[in-house]
Amino acid sequence: MNIHEYQSKQIFKDYGLNTLNGFLIESREDLEKSYDKIKTDIAVLKAQIHAGGRGKAGGVKLVKSIDEARELFDKLYEKNLVTIQTTSEGEKVSKFYLEEACNIQDEYYLSFVLNRKDACISVIASGEGGMDIEDLAKNSPEKILSFNIDPMIGITDYMIRDVLFIFGLDKSYLAEVSKLLKGLYKIYIENDCTLIEINPLIRNDKNELIAIDGKMSFDDNALYRNQKIEAFRDNSNANPNELEAEKHGLSYVGLDGDIGCLVNGAGLAMATMDSIFFAGGTPANFLDIGGGANDEIIAMSLKMVLESEKVKGALVNVFGGINSCDTIARGVVMALDKIDKKIPIVVRLQGTNFKEGKKIIQDSSHEIYLTDSMDAGSEMIVKLTKEAK
Ligand code: GDP
Ligand code: MN
Repeated sequence: MNIHEYQSKQIFKDYGLNTLNGFLIESREDLEKSYDKIKTDIAVLKAQIHAGGRGKAGGVKLVKSIDEARELFDKLYEKNLVTIQTTSEGEKVSKFYLEEACNIQDEYYLSFVLNRKDACISVIASGEGGMDIEDLAKNSPEKILSFNIDPMIGITDYMIRDVLFIFGLDKSYLAEVSKLLKGLYKIYIENDCTLIEINPLIRNDKNELIAIDGKMSFDDNALYRNQKIEAFRDNSNANPNELEAEKHGLSYVGLDGDIGCLVNGAGLAMATMDSIFFAGGTPANFLDIGGGANDEIIAMSLKMVLESEKVKGALVNVFGGINSCDTIARGVVMALDKIDKKIPIVVRLQGTNFKEGKKIIQDSSHEIYLTDSMDAGSEMIVKLTKEAK
Protein backbone atom coordinates (compact mmCIF):
# COMPACT_ATOMS: atom_id res chain seq x y z
CA MET A 1 0.00 0.00 0.00
CA ASN A 2 1.15 3.51 -0.81
CA ILE A 3 0.41 6.61 1.24
CA HIS A 4 0.41 10.32 0.44
CA GLU A 5 3.25 12.76 0.97
CA TYR A 6 1.42 14.57 3.78
CA GLN A 7 0.95 11.25 5.59
CA SER A 8 4.63 10.32 5.19
CA LYS A 9 5.55 13.69 6.64
CA GLN A 10 3.25 13.07 9.59
CA ILE A 11 5.19 9.86 10.27
CA PHE A 12 8.55 11.64 9.88
CA LYS A 13 7.38 14.25 12.40
CA ASP A 14 6.19 11.57 14.84
CA TYR A 15 9.70 10.10 14.79
CA GLY A 16 11.34 13.46 15.39
CA LEU A 17 12.62 14.11 11.87
CA ASN A 18 12.60 17.58 10.30
CA THR A 19 9.66 18.58 8.15
CA LEU A 20 8.11 21.94 7.34
CA ASN A 21 4.86 23.33 8.70
CA GLY A 22 1.96 22.31 6.51
CA PHE A 23 -1.77 21.81 6.23
CA LEU A 24 -3.97 19.25 4.51
CA ILE A 25 -6.34 20.92 2.06
CA GLU A 26 -9.52 19.13 1.05
CA SER A 27 -11.67 22.06 -0.03
CA ARG A 28 -11.54 25.70 -1.10
CA GLU A 29 -12.49 26.69 2.48
CA ASP A 30 -9.55 24.70 3.86
CA LEU A 31 -7.27 26.59 1.50
CA GLU A 32 -8.53 30.02 2.59
CA LYS A 33 -8.28 29.15 6.29
CA SER A 34 -4.88 27.47 6.13
CA TYR A 35 -3.27 30.07 3.90
CA ASP A 36 -3.64 32.62 6.72
CA LYS A 37 -1.65 30.35 9.03
CA ILE A 38 1.37 30.18 6.71
CA LYS A 39 4.17 32.18 8.29
CA THR A 40 6.51 32.40 5.29
CA ASP A 41 6.22 34.82 2.35
CA ILE A 42 6.09 31.96 -0.08
CA ALA A 43 4.12 28.76 0.32
CA VAL A 44 4.15 25.53 -1.67
CA LEU A 45 0.90 23.94 -2.79
CA LYS A 46 1.24 20.27 -3.70
CA ALA A 47 -1.30 17.91 -5.23
CA GLN A 48 -1.53 14.66 -3.25
CA ILE A 49 -1.59 11.57 -5.43
CA HIS A 50 0.08 8.18 -5.07
CA ALA A 51 2.75 9.00 -7.64
CA GLY A 52 5.83 11.18 -8.01
CA GLY A 53 6.86 13.41 -10.89
CA ARG A 54 4.28 16.00 -9.80
CA GLY A 55 6.72 18.90 -9.98
CA LYS A 56 7.36 18.51 -13.70
CA ALA A 57 3.67 17.83 -14.40
CA GLY A 58 2.49 21.07 -12.77
CA GLY A 59 1.21 19.49 -9.57
CA VAL A 60 3.58 21.45 -7.29
CA LYS A 61 3.65 25.23 -7.23
CA LEU A 62 5.39 27.92 -5.23
CA VAL A 63 2.72 30.51 -4.45
CA LYS A 64 3.13 34.08 -3.25
CA SER A 65 -0.50 34.92 -2.67
CA ILE A 66 -3.83 33.29 -1.96
CA ASP A 67 -4.83 34.11 -5.55
CA GLU A 68 -1.97 32.07 -6.93
CA ALA A 69 -2.87 29.23 -4.59
CA ARG A 70 -6.53 29.37 -5.68
CA GLU A 71 -5.43 29.23 -9.29
CA LEU A 72 -3.62 25.89 -8.91
CA PHE A 73 -6.36 24.55 -6.66
CA ASP A 74 -9.09 25.33 -9.21
CA LYS A 75 -7.02 23.97 -12.05
CA LEU A 76 -6.45 20.57 -10.45
CA TYR A 77 -9.16 19.95 -7.87
CA GLU A 78 -11.22 16.88 -8.75
CA LYS A 79 -9.32 16.60 -12.03
CA ASN A 80 -6.81 13.99 -13.13
CA LEU A 81 -3.10 14.74 -12.89
CA VAL A 82 -0.89 12.84 -15.31
CA THR A 83 2.79 12.43 -14.40
CA ILE A 84 5.53 10.12 -15.68
CA GLN A 85 4.69 7.80 -12.78
CA THR A 86 0.92 7.54 -13.37
CA THR A 87 -0.98 5.74 -16.13
CA SER A 88 -1.99 7.79 -19.17
CA GLU A 89 -5.31 8.47 -17.44
CA GLY A 90 -3.58 9.96 -14.42
CA GLU A 91 -4.86 10.11 -10.86
CA LYS A 92 -7.68 12.23 -9.54
CA VAL A 93 -6.59 15.01 -7.19
CA SER A 94 -8.91 15.41 -4.21
CA LYS A 95 -6.35 16.58 -1.66
CA PHE A 96 -3.53 19.11 -1.54
CA TYR A 97 -0.82 19.86 0.96
CA LEU A 98 -0.04 23.50 1.66
CA GLU A 99 3.39 23.91 3.15
CA GLU A 100 5.66 26.73 4.27
CA ALA A 101 8.44 27.14 1.76
CA CYS A 102 12.12 27.12 2.63
CA ASN A 103 15.33 28.45 1.16
CA ILE A 104 16.94 25.51 -0.56
CA GLN A 105 20.76 25.53 -0.48
CA ASP A 106 21.27 22.00 -1.69
CA GLU A 107 19.16 18.94 -2.64
CA TYR A 108 19.93 15.29 -1.86
CA TYR A 109 18.38 11.92 -2.57
CA LEU A 110 17.85 9.36 0.18
CA SER A 111 15.86 6.13 0.20
CA PHE A 112 15.47 2.89 2.11
CA VAL A 113 14.32 0.05 -0.11
CA LEU A 114 13.55 -3.63 0.21
CA ASN A 115 16.37 -5.50 -1.50
CA ARG A 116 14.75 -8.79 -2.47
CA LYS A 117 17.88 -10.21 -4.07
CA ASP A 118 20.05 -9.83 -0.96
CA ALA A 119 17.08 -10.31 1.40
CA CYS A 120 17.72 -7.15 3.38
CA ILE A 121 17.06 -3.43 3.51
CA SER A 122 19.30 -1.25 1.34
CA VAL A 123 20.02 2.46 1.50
CA ILE A 124 20.44 4.54 -1.64
CA ALA A 125 21.87 8.05 -1.31
CA SER A 126 23.09 10.74 -3.63
CA GLY A 127 24.19 14.35 -3.52
CA GLU A 128 22.12 14.98 -6.64
CA GLY A 129 18.62 15.35 -5.25
CA GLY A 130 15.39 16.31 -6.99
CA MET A 131 16.50 14.35 -10.05
CA ASP A 132 15.17 11.19 -11.55
CA ILE A 133 17.20 8.60 -9.67
CA GLU A 134 16.74 6.10 -12.52
CA ASP A 135 18.34 8.56 -14.97
CA LEU A 136 21.15 9.29 -12.54
CA ALA A 137 21.81 5.57 -12.07
CA LYS A 138 22.11 5.20 -15.83
CA ASN A 139 24.15 8.30 -16.63
CA SER A 140 26.30 8.92 -13.53
CA PRO A 141 26.28 5.78 -11.39
CA GLU A 142 29.37 7.04 -9.52
CA LYS A 143 27.20 9.73 -7.93
CA ILE A 144 25.06 7.13 -6.20
CA LEU A 145 25.94 5.34 -2.99
CA SER A 146 24.11 2.17 -2.05
CA PHE A 147 24.74 -0.31 0.73
CA ASN A 148 22.94 -3.11 2.56
CA ILE A 149 21.99 -3.01 6.23
CA ASP A 150 22.78 -6.09 8.28
CA PRO A 151 19.63 -6.71 10.34
CA MET A 152 21.73 -7.87 13.32
CA ILE A 153 23.75 -4.65 13.36
CA GLY A 154 21.59 -1.86 11.93
CA ILE A 155 22.99 1.56 10.98
CA THR A 156 26.71 1.85 11.72
CA ASP A 157 29.01 4.87 12.06
CA TYR A 158 30.80 4.15 8.79
CA MET A 159 27.47 4.14 6.94
CA ILE A 160 26.70 7.55 8.37
CA ARG A 161 30.12 8.86 7.25
CA ASP A 162 29.63 7.42 3.76
CA VAL A 163 26.29 9.19 3.39
CA LEU A 164 27.82 12.41 4.73
CA PHE A 165 30.54 12.10 2.09
CA ILE A 166 28.22 11.44 -0.86
CA PHE A 167 26.08 14.40 0.24
CA GLY A 168 29.24 16.52 0.21
CA LEU A 169 28.70 17.65 3.80
CA ASP A 170 31.31 18.23 6.49
CA LYS A 171 31.61 16.65 9.94
CA SER A 172 29.40 19.27 11.56
CA TYR A 173 26.43 17.44 10.00
CA LEU A 174 27.36 14.07 11.49
CA ALA A 175 24.78 14.17 14.27
CA GLU A 176 22.04 15.32 11.92
CA VAL A 177 22.72 12.65 9.28
CA SER A 178 22.95 10.05 12.05
CA LYS A 179 19.56 11.07 13.45
CA LEU A 180 18.06 10.94 9.97
CA LEU A 181 19.40 7.49 9.02
CA LYS A 182 18.60 5.91 12.37
CA GLY A 183 15.16 7.52 12.42
CA LEU A 184 14.28 6.32 8.93
CA TYR A 185 15.55 2.83 9.70
CA LYS A 186 13.40 2.73 12.83
CA ILE A 187 10.35 3.91 10.84
CA TYR A 188 11.04 1.25 8.20
CA ILE A 189 11.29 -1.62 10.70
CA GLU A 190 8.50 -0.59 13.06
CA ASN A 191 5.96 -0.05 10.29
CA ASP A 192 6.84 -2.89 7.90
CA CYS A 193 7.74 -0.53 5.07
CA THR A 194 8.82 -1.66 1.64
CA LEU A 195 9.99 1.82 0.62
CA ILE A 196 10.84 5.20 2.12
CA GLU A 197 12.05 7.71 -0.43
CA ILE A 198 12.96 11.33 0.24
CA ASN A 199 13.57 13.18 -3.00
CA PRO A 200 14.61 15.79 -2.35
CA LEU A 201 16.02 15.97 1.12
CA ILE A 202 17.29 19.52 1.39
CA ARG A 203 19.62 21.75 3.37
CA ASN A 204 18.08 25.13 4.15
CA ASP A 205 19.83 28.45 4.87
CA LYS A 206 19.95 27.54 8.59
CA ASN A 207 21.91 24.40 7.74
CA GLU A 208 19.09 22.05 8.69
CA LEU A 209 18.34 18.88 6.74
CA ILE A 210 14.64 18.73 5.90
CA ALA A 211 12.49 16.21 4.02
CA ILE A 212 10.47 18.25 1.52
CA ASP A 213 9.05 15.20 -0.21
CA GLY A 214 8.21 11.78 1.19
CA LYS A 215 7.08 8.63 -0.53
CA MET A 216 6.30 5.50 1.46
CA SER A 217 5.03 2.02 0.64
CA PHE A 218 4.08 -0.72 3.07
CA ASP A 219 3.90 -4.50 3.07
CA ASP A 220 0.20 -5.33 2.59
CA ASN A 221 0.60 -8.61 4.44
CA ALA A 222 1.66 -6.79 7.59
CA LEU A 223 -1.03 -4.10 7.61
CA TYR A 224 -3.14 -6.12 10.05
CA ARG A 225 -0.62 -5.28 12.77
CA ASN A 226 -0.12 -1.66 11.70
CA GLN A 227 -3.52 -0.11 12.30
CA LYS A 228 -2.17 3.44 12.19
CA ILE A 229 -0.85 2.84 8.68
CA GLU A 230 -4.02 1.03 7.59
CA ALA A 231 -5.94 4.17 8.60
CA PHE A 232 -3.93 6.09 5.97
CA ARG A 233 -5.48 4.01 3.18
CA ASP A 234 -6.90 6.09 0.34
CA ASN A 235 -8.63 3.98 -2.30
CA SER A 236 -10.10 6.87 -4.25
CA ASN A 237 -7.89 6.12 -7.24
CA ALA A 238 -7.96 2.33 -7.05
CA ASN A 239 -9.49 0.19 -9.80
CA PRO A 240 -13.08 -0.67 -8.66
CA ASN A 241 -12.72 -4.25 -9.92
CA GLU A 242 -9.54 -4.74 -7.91
CA LEU A 243 -11.29 -3.48 -4.77
CA GLU A 244 -14.37 -5.66 -5.34
CA ALA A 245 -12.19 -8.74 -5.94
CA GLU A 246 -10.10 -7.98 -2.85
CA LYS A 247 -13.25 -7.84 -0.73
CA HIS A 248 -13.93 -11.46 -1.66
CA GLY A 249 -10.33 -12.53 -1.15
CA LEU A 250 -9.71 -12.75 -4.92
CA SER A 251 -7.21 -10.82 -6.97
CA TYR A 252 -8.03 -8.93 -10.13
CA VAL A 253 -5.35 -7.32 -12.29
CA GLY A 254 -6.24 -5.00 -15.16
CA LEU A 255 -3.99 -5.08 -18.25
CA ASP A 256 -3.95 -3.46 -21.70
CA GLY A 257 -5.03 -6.16 -24.17
CA ASP A 258 -8.40 -7.56 -25.26
CA ILE A 259 -8.63 -11.09 -23.82
CA GLY A 260 -10.15 -11.54 -20.36
CA CYS A 261 -8.81 -14.41 -18.25
CA LEU A 262 -10.30 -16.34 -15.36
CA VAL A 263 -7.73 -18.61 -13.72
CA ASN A 264 -6.91 -20.25 -10.42
CA GLY A 265 -3.56 -19.69 -8.77
CA ALA A 266 -0.89 -17.06 -9.42
CA GLY A 267 1.36 -19.54 -11.22
CA LEU A 268 -1.34 -20.61 -13.65
CA ALA A 269 -2.23 -16.94 -14.15
CA MET A 270 1.35 -16.19 -15.25
CA ALA A 271 1.52 -19.28 -17.45
CA THR A 272 -1.81 -18.32 -19.06
CA MET A 273 -0.54 -14.80 -19.81
CA ASP A 274 2.59 -16.26 -21.42
CA SER A 275 0.58 -18.75 -23.41
CA ILE A 276 -1.74 -16.02 -24.75
CA PHE A 277 1.22 -13.83 -25.71
CA PHE A 278 2.86 -16.81 -27.37
CA ALA A 279 -0.28 -17.40 -29.43
CA GLY A 280 -0.13 -13.77 -30.60
CA GLY A 281 -2.75 -12.22 -28.31
CA THR A 282 -2.72 -9.83 -25.34
CA PRO A 283 -4.60 -10.24 -22.05
CA ALA A 284 -7.03 -7.50 -20.95
CA ASN A 285 -7.01 -8.66 -17.34
CA PHE A 286 -6.86 -11.72 -15.18
CA LEU A 287 -8.82 -12.74 -12.16
CA ASP A 288 -7.40 -15.35 -9.87
CA ILE A 289 -10.23 -17.17 -8.07
CA GLY A 290 -7.76 -18.98 -5.81
CA GLY A 291 -9.05 -22.14 -4.14
CA GLY A 292 -12.44 -22.84 -2.62
CA ALA A 293 -14.67 -20.40 -4.51
CA ASN A 294 -18.33 -21.41 -4.89
CA ASP A 295 -20.34 -21.15 -8.12
CA GLU A 296 -21.73 -17.72 -7.23
CA ILE A 297 -18.29 -16.26 -6.60
CA ILE A 298 -17.12 -17.76 -9.88
CA ALA A 299 -20.08 -16.24 -11.71
CA MET A 300 -19.35 -12.83 -10.16
CA SER A 301 -15.68 -13.20 -11.09
CA LEU A 302 -16.40 -14.01 -14.72
CA LYS A 303 -18.80 -11.07 -14.89
CA MET A 304 -15.99 -8.84 -13.67
CA VAL A 305 -13.61 -10.24 -16.27
CA LEU A 306 -16.11 -9.71 -19.12
CA GLU A 307 -17.42 -6.31 -18.00
CA SER A 308 -14.75 -4.06 -19.47
CA GLU A 309 -15.34 -2.54 -22.91
CA LYS A 310 -11.96 -3.68 -24.12
CA VAL A 311 -12.60 -7.40 -23.49
CA LYS A 312 -13.37 -9.00 -26.88
CA GLY A 313 -12.90 -12.62 -25.88
CA ALA A 314 -12.33 -14.63 -22.70
CA LEU A 315 -10.38 -17.68 -21.63
CA VAL A 316 -11.32 -19.66 -18.54
CA ASN A 317 -8.31 -21.74 -17.62
CA VAL A 318 -8.79 -23.72 -14.43
CA PHE A 319 -7.10 -26.73 -13.01
CA GLY A 320 -9.57 -28.33 -10.65
CA GLY A 321 -7.92 -29.12 -7.34
CA ILE A 322 -9.65 -27.52 -4.39
CA ASN A 323 -12.05 -25.98 -6.90
CA SER A 324 -13.85 -28.78 -8.65
CA CYS A 325 -14.56 -28.38 -12.36
CA ASP A 326 -18.33 -28.84 -12.05
CA THR A 327 -18.48 -25.87 -9.66
CA ILE A 328 -16.45 -23.80 -12.12
CA ALA A 329 -18.72 -24.85 -15.00
CA ARG A 330 -21.86 -23.97 -13.06
CA GLY A 331 -20.39 -20.55 -12.24
CA VAL A 332 -19.50 -19.92 -15.88
CA VAL A 333 -23.00 -20.81 -17.07
CA MET A 334 -24.56 -18.74 -14.28
CA ALA A 335 -22.55 -15.69 -15.33
CA LEU A 336 -23.43 -16.06 -19.01
CA ASP A 337 -27.12 -16.44 -18.12
CA LYS A 338 -26.96 -12.98 -16.61
CA ILE A 339 -24.70 -11.18 -19.09
CA ASP A 340 -25.83 -9.96 -22.45
CA LYS A 341 -22.45 -9.74 -24.14
CA LYS A 342 -21.80 -11.89 -27.19
CA ILE A 343 -18.09 -12.59 -27.35
CA PRO A 344 -16.21 -15.85 -27.86
CA ILE A 345 -15.48 -17.80 -24.68
CA VAL A 346 -13.06 -20.69 -24.40
CA VAL A 347 -13.08 -22.93 -21.36
CA ARG A 348 -10.30 -25.31 -20.45
CA LEU A 349 -11.06 -27.60 -17.54
CA GLN A 350 -8.74 -30.21 -16.10
CA GLY A 351 -8.60 -32.03 -12.79
CA THR A 352 -11.26 -32.89 -10.22
CA ASN A 353 -14.68 -33.65 -11.79
CA PHE A 354 -13.65 -32.39 -15.21
CA LYS A 355 -16.06 -34.76 -16.96
CA GLU A 356 -19.02 -33.41 -14.99
CA GLY A 357 -17.78 -29.88 -15.67
CA LYS A 358 -17.58 -30.40 -19.41
CA LYS A 359 -21.06 -31.91 -19.45
CA ILE A 360 -22.53 -28.87 -17.72
CA ILE A 361 -20.89 -26.62 -20.34
CA GLN A 362 -22.04 -28.80 -23.25
CA ASP A 363 -25.63 -29.00 -21.94
CA SER A 364 -25.88 -25.22 -21.50
CA SER A 365 -27.55 -23.05 -24.09
CA HIS A 366 -24.45 -20.86 -24.48
CA GLU A 367 -21.89 -21.11 -27.21
CA ILE A 368 -18.77 -22.01 -25.26
CA TYR A 369 -15.69 -23.59 -26.81
CA LEU A 370 -14.19 -26.43 -24.77
CA THR A 371 -10.59 -27.59 -24.85
CA ASP A 372 -8.28 -29.83 -22.85
CA SER A 373 -4.97 -28.01 -23.06
CA MET A 374 -3.90 -24.51 -22.12
CA ASP A 375 -1.93 -23.84 -25.30
CA ALA A 376 -4.76 -25.06 -27.52
CA GLY A 377 -7.12 -22.86 -25.49
CA SER A 378 -4.89 -19.81 -25.97
CA GLU A 379 -4.57 -20.37 -29.70
CA MET A 380 -8.32 -20.83 -29.97
CA ILE A 381 -9.24 -17.67 -28.05
CA VAL A 382 -6.66 -15.53 -29.88
CA LYS A 383 -7.99 -16.72 -33.24
CA LEU A 384 -11.66 -16.31 -32.28
CA THR A 385 -11.07 -12.86 -30.81
CA LYS A 386 -9.32 -11.68 -33.97
CA GLU A 387 -12.15 -13.07 -36.12
CA ALA A 388 -14.79 -11.41 -33.95
CA LYS A 389 -13.23 -7.95 -34.39
P1 GDP B 1 7.55 15.32 -7.03
O1 GDP B 1 7.88 16.06 -8.30
O2 GDP B 1 6.25 14.60 -7.13
O3 GDP B 1 8.68 14.42 -6.61
O4 GDP B 1 7.32 16.45 -5.90
P2 GDP B 1 8.35 17.15 -4.89
O5 GDP B 1 7.74 17.16 -3.55
O6 GDP B 1 9.72 16.54 -4.98
O7 GDP B 1 8.39 18.65 -5.42
C1 GDP B 1 8.93 19.00 -6.66
C2 GDP B 1 9.92 20.15 -6.52
O8 GDP B 1 9.31 21.30 -5.97
C3 GDP B 1 11.08 19.86 -5.59
O9 GDP B 1 12.10 19.08 -6.20
C4 GDP B 1 11.56 21.24 -5.24
O10 GDP B 1 12.49 21.71 -6.20
C5 GDP B 1 10.29 22.08 -5.31
N1 GDP B 1 9.86 22.43 -3.94
C6 GDP B 1 9.09 21.72 -3.12
N2 GDP B 1 8.98 22.34 -1.92
C7 GDP B 1 9.73 23.45 -1.99
C8 GDP B 1 10.05 24.54 -1.07
O11 GDP B 1 9.64 24.58 0.06
N3 GDP B 1 10.87 25.53 -1.55
C9 GDP B 1 11.35 25.53 -2.80
N4 GDP B 1 12.14 26.53 -3.19
N5 GDP B 1 11.09 24.55 -3.67
C10 GDP B 1 10.29 23.52 -3.28
MN1 MN C 1 10.03 14.38 -5.21
